[in-house]
Amino acid sequence: MCLRRLLQSAQLQRAWRAVFVKHGQGRHQGAWRWTHSGGGTYRAVIFDMGGVLIPSPGRVAAEWEVQNHIPSGTILKALISGGENGPWMKFMRAEITTEDFLQEFGRLCSEISKTSVPLDSFFSLLTSERVAKPFPVMTEAITQIRAKGLQTAVLSSNFYLPNGKSFLPLDRKQFDVVVESCLEGVCKPDARMYKLCLERLGRQPSESIFLDDLGPNLKAAASLGIHTIKVHDPETAVKELETLLGFPLRMAVPNTRPVRKTMEIPKDSLEKYLKDLLGTQATGPLELLQFDHGQSNPTYYIRLAKHQLVLRKKPPGTLLPSAHAIEREFSFLCSGRIMKALANAGVPVPKVLDLCEDSRVIGTPFYLMEYCPGLIYKDPSLPGLEPSQRRAIYTAMNRVLCKIHSVDLKAAGLEDYGKHGDYVARQVQTWIKQYRASETSTIPPMERLIEWLPLHLPRQQQTTVVHGDFRLDNVLFHPETAEVLAVLDWELSTLGDPLADVAHSCLAHYLPSSFPVQPGLSDSDLSELGIPTAEEYFRMYCLHMGICPTENWNFYMAFSFFRIAAILQGVYKRSLTGHASSATGEQTGKLTEFTSNLAWDFAVKEGFRVFKEMPASKPLTRSQHTRARPQSLPRTPGMRSYVTSTDSSPAHISKGALVFSPEGLSPPVRELYQWLKQVMERHVYPAEPELQHHQTSAEKWTPSPLLEDLKEKAKAEGLWNVFLPVETDPEKKYGAGLTNEEYAHLCEVMGTSLYAPEIFNCSAPDTGNVELLVRYGTEEQKARWLIPLLEGKARSCFAMTEPQVASSDATNVESSIQEEDGFYVINGHKWWISGILDPRCQLCVFMGKTDPHAPCHQQQSMLLVPMDTPGIKIIRPLTVYGLEDAPGGHGEVLFEQVCVPKENMVLGPGRGFEIAQGQLGPGRIHHCMWLIGYSERALALMKARAKSRMAFGKPLVEQGTVLADIAQSRVEIEQARLLVLKAAHVMDVAGNKAAALDIAMIKVGAPPMAYQVTDRAIQAFGAPGPSSDYPLAQFFTRARALRFADGPDEVHRAAVAKMELKRCS
Ligand SMILES: Cc1cc2nc3c(=O)[nH]c(=O)nc-3n(C[C@H](O)[C@H](O)[C@H](O)COP(=O)(O)OP(=O)(O)OC[C@H]3O[C@@H](n4cnc5c(N)ncnc54)[C@H](O)[C@@H]3O)c2cc1C
Repeated sequence: MCLRRLLQSAQLQRAWRAVFVKHGQGRHQGAWRWTHSGGGTYRAVIFDMGGVLIPSPGRVAAEWEVQNHIPSGTILKALISGGENGPWMKFMRAEITTEDFLQEFGRLCSEISKTSVPLDSFFSLLTSERVAKPFPVMTEAITQIRAKGLQTAVLSSNFYLPNGKSFLPLDRKQFDVVVESCLEGVCKPDARMYKLCLERLGRQPSESIFLDDLGPNLKAAASLGIHTIKVHDPETAVKELETLLGFPLRMAVPNTRPVRKTMEIPKDSLEKYLKDLLGTQATGPLELLQFDHGQSNPTYYIRLAKHQLVLRKKPPGTLLPSAHAIEREFSFLCSGRIMKALANAGVPVPKVLDLCEDSRVIGTPFYLMEYCPGLIYKDPSLPGLEPSQRRAIYTAMNRVLCKIHSVDLKAAGLEDYGKHGDYVARQVQTWIKQYRASETSTIPPMERLIEWLPLHLPRQQQTTVVHGDFRLDNVLFHPETAEVLAVLDWELSTLGDPLADVAHSCLAHYLPSSFPVQPGLSDSDLSELGIPTAEEYFRMYCLHMGICPTENWNFYMAFSFFRIAAILQGVYKRSLTGHASSATGEQTGKLTEFTSNLAWDFAVKEGFRVFKEMPASKPLTRSQHTRARPQSLPRTPGMRSYVTSTDSSPAHISKGALVFSPEGLSPPVRELYQWLKQVMERHVYPAEPELQHHQTSAEKWTPSPLLEDLKEKAKAEGLWNVFLPVETDPEKKYGAGLTNEEYAHLCEVMGTSLYAPEIFNCSAPDTGNVELLVRYGTEEQKARWLIPLLEGKARSCFAMTEPQVASSDATNVESSIQEEDGFYVINGHKWWISGILDPRCQLCVFMGKTDPHAPCHQQQSMLLVPMDTPGIKIIRPLTVYGLEDAPGGHGEVLFEQVCVPKENMVLGPGRGFEIAQGQLGPGRIHHCMWLIGYSERALALMKARAKSRMAFGKPLVEQGTVLADIAQSRVEIEQARLLVLKAAHVMDVAGNKAAALDIAMIKVGAPPMAYQVTDRAIQAFGAPGPSSDYPLAQFFTRARALRFADGPDEVHRAAVAKMELKRCS
C-alpha cells in the first residue's frame, strides 16, 4: 500500500468504505485453483451476527472473565438464564432499556458468581470497535456471494446502545436485508424472524441457507425448510458454504479480490501482450485478480498458463506531475547495480520482468514482476499470531530496514540516486507546499507545525537509501515464518535520512485500531500482544545499526504525522470537488485534524524534552555567615556583577553571587533567556493587537483562540512552567528547575507583554496556587488540580478578600468553613477574585475561618474548592479603571452552602496563615518582576516616540524635561530591578521566610516605580498615550492596581518598618 494512494480521493473513499480484508495468517498456503461451478439452487444466504459475522458474546465473555477474575461461565449462565423471559432476551427484544438490563443482568451475574461483576466494562468491551469487528473471512465470502448475484441477509439478535442506535457493527451495504431483533421486537428462534427475512428477500425457504452458531436457532430455521450450517468457526463454515454453493468464497491468492469495476483493464489486449512477451507456451485462460494493497499504483495478480505475475500500473486519469512514478520504481527495481546492492545487503525485492510504457496496451504504462507467494499483514496487531510470532515479525521488519539503510552507496554506485543531505528539510518544504496547495481552511496545529518544523530540523543527518514508505503492509512475509520475502512499493525511494523511514514505520503505533486509512495499535496492549513499543522498535533499530538513539526522535514522529496530515488534506480537498459524499469528506477533514494534532503532540514532547534536559540549577547553599564576597565570575562586556550585600540584613545569608544581568546567567539558562526573547519577538508582540481586540470583543469572556495557539507554541519551544523554583521542585518534576533569581530575568521579559505570562503558563494567580499545591498538596490533590494547571488546561483563582471587612488584615476574613457530615460547608461573600470568571477556571483556593475561637492566626484555613460545586454564585465582574480584564476578570462572588469533601483541606484546619505568610514566596514577587518588564517596555516605547516626534522645531527627545524623564525612569527601573533580584536571590540562598523583608521592600518599591515610569511614557506620547493603541495605559492601570492587590503598600511598608525597628534594637 503506498502513501501516495491517499492522494486519490476516490481511493480514500474506497479505503473508507472498505472492510479491511485481513487475510487469516497461514490460510492461503497453497495456490489453489477453484473451478467455478455456478450457484446451484440457492439464491440467498442468511447470516446470524454474533458468533457468525462477529465474535459471539459468549466468547468475548470468556476472555473478559479471565481478565477480570470473574468465575468462568458466569456471563454465559446469565445469558441463558430465564429463557425467553430472561434479561438478555428481553434486552434483545428492546423490552427493557440498557440501564435496566445492565442492572438486572449485573444482579444475576453477581448471584451466579457470588461476587460483584462490573458489567459496564463487559458491555463496553462487547460493543467496542476493537472487539465487534467482522471476521475477514466472512466479509470476503459475502463479497464473493454477492459478486455471483446471490442475495445476502443478516438476521441479528441485537439491542439498542445507550446512544439510541441499534448495535450492528456491519456494513449494511453488504446485505440486501437486515432484520434486527430490537427493531422488530422478536428474537430468534421465533419463527417470525425467519419468515420476515424470507419475505423481505422474496425467497422461499428452500432457496436459502442460514448460518448460526446456536442449535435452537438452526433448528427453528431447518423446521421451516431452510438449509442450515452450524458455525463452530468461521473458516470451516465458509468451506461448508462453498461446497453448498459450488463456487469459491475465498481468493486462492492471498491479499487479492476480484478486480474492481473501476479498475478493470482490457484482458484481451493484455493477454496478447503477455503471449508476445512470454512466448508460445503461454496459452490458456488469463486469470486476473486485484491486490487489495498497492492502490496508489493499482496492482494485479495474473495467472497465464504456468506463469504467475504481478502487474503494477499507473492509475487512470490526470495525475500530479510527481506522483505515481512507476517508471522510476521500475528503473529502481530493474537497475542491475541497485538489485545487486540490495541483494548484497540482504534486502529481498520482487524480480521485475518488463516495463510497458505504451499506454495503448492497457490504458496506462505498467510493469510486470514475478509473483512471489507470501503474506502481507495489513492489521499491525497481527491477529491470530502468537506473541512470539508477532515479535518475530516486527524484528524481521526492523532488520530488513536496517539492511536497506546499510547499502553501501559508493560500492553500489548509488551515490547519484538522490540528493545528499538536507533530506528532511527538503521533505518538510515539499509537504508544506503540498499542504498549502490543498488547504481549505486554517488548521491551527498545521500552522504551528509549518512554523515549528523548519526551525527544529535535525542538525545531523545521515544519507542512505531510504524506502520512503516503509511499513508493515509493504513487507511480504513467508506464510509460515517471519522471513521477509520481499520489500514492496519502492516508488518513493531515494537517498535520504534513514530515521525518517524508522519513524514512518512507527506511525501505526500511535493510531487507533479504528483509524480508517490504516488500522493502528494505540489502543492495544502491546506487551500482551508481544509487539515491541515504538521506543523498543527504535532502540532495536539503533542497536542493529550500531548507532546511539537520536535524542530528537519526537521531531521525526512530528514530521511523519505532518506528512500524513498533508496527504489527507489533499484527499479532503479532492473530496470537496469530486464525487465523495459530504459525510466522507467531512470525516476526511477530521482525519487531517486528528493526525495534525498527533504531529503537534510530538512537537510538544520535543519541547518538553529540551526543557527537561536542561541541567537544573543547583539550589544555592545557605550558610550562616554574613559577608560580602568579591565577584568571582569573569566579566563579559555589558555584564555587571553584584554580590549581595548582607550588611543591611543580618538574616540574609548569601553564598552565591547575585547575577543582575542576563549575560551572567549559566549557559543553558542564558540560552533559554535568549530563546524566550526570540519567541517574544516572533510570536508574542505581533499577536498583541489581535489579543487586545479579543479582550474588548463580544467573545471576551471566552479564551482567545490565538492565545491558546500561542500557548501550544510555547510548549513546543520548551518555554513552559519555568516559574517553579528549583527549591520547591528540586527533582524538576514539574518545572524547569530555575532559581528564583534566574527566573526573575525571564519573568521580566515576559512582563514586557501583558499576554506573555499566560502564554508561557507563568501567570497569576496560577503560579501561586501551583506553588501551594506542590508544597502542600496531597498526591490526590496534585493529581486532580496540579497536573491540569501545569498542562495549561485549567486555570485557578484565590479567594480571600471580602467586601464587608478590611482585608488588608487577613485575620478579618469572616467567611466560614464548617465541618458537617464529613464535608466542609462554606458560606461567605468575596470580591476581587481574579480569574474566577474564566471558563477554564476549575479551582478556587478559598480562605475562610474553620475556628473563630482559636488564637487569631489559627482561625483561617485554605480549602480547595472545585468551581463546579453548587452554591458558588458570581454576582458581577468588577472593573479596574473601567477595564474588565476578561476572560479571567475580577469577580464578586457568593459562596452559599458550598459543600466540599474534607480531603480538599490544604495542610490542615487552622493552617491558612502558616501557608500564606510563612512559606510561600515566589508567587508573591512575580508581579514585581513583571512590573520591571512593564517599565522597560514603556521606556522603550517612550524613547522611540520621543526620537521621532517633532515639537517646537526639534525632536521631543531633545527637550530637557523629556530627557530628564528618560533619565529618571532608567534610574528607578535599575533600582527596582536590583531590589527584585536581591529578594529573589535571598529567597534562593536563605529561604522564603528569611526573604520576608526583601519581598516586602520590593512590594513597596516596584508598583509606584512602574506607575511613575509608565505615567511618564504616557505623557511623552501625548493623546495616544492613554489609548488602547499602546500597552501603556494597561501597564499604568495594572501598576496602580498592584498597589492594592497582594496587599496595599501601607501593609508592606508597615512590615518593613517593623523589621527595621526590630533589627535596630
Ligand atoms: C486588581 C486587583 C486584583 C485583586 N485580586 C485579588 C484576588 O485574586 N484575590 C483576593 O482575595 N483579593 C484580590 N484583590 C484584593 C486585594 O488583595 C485587596 O484589595 C487588598 O488586600 C486590600 O484589601 P481591601 O480592599 O479590603 O482594603 P482595606 O483593607 O479596606 O484597606 C483600605 C486601605 O486602607 C489602608 N490601610 C490598610 N491597612 C493599613 C495599614 N496597616 N496602615 C495604613 N493604611 C492601611 C490602605 O491604604 C488600603 O488601601 C485584588 C485587588 C485588585 C485591585
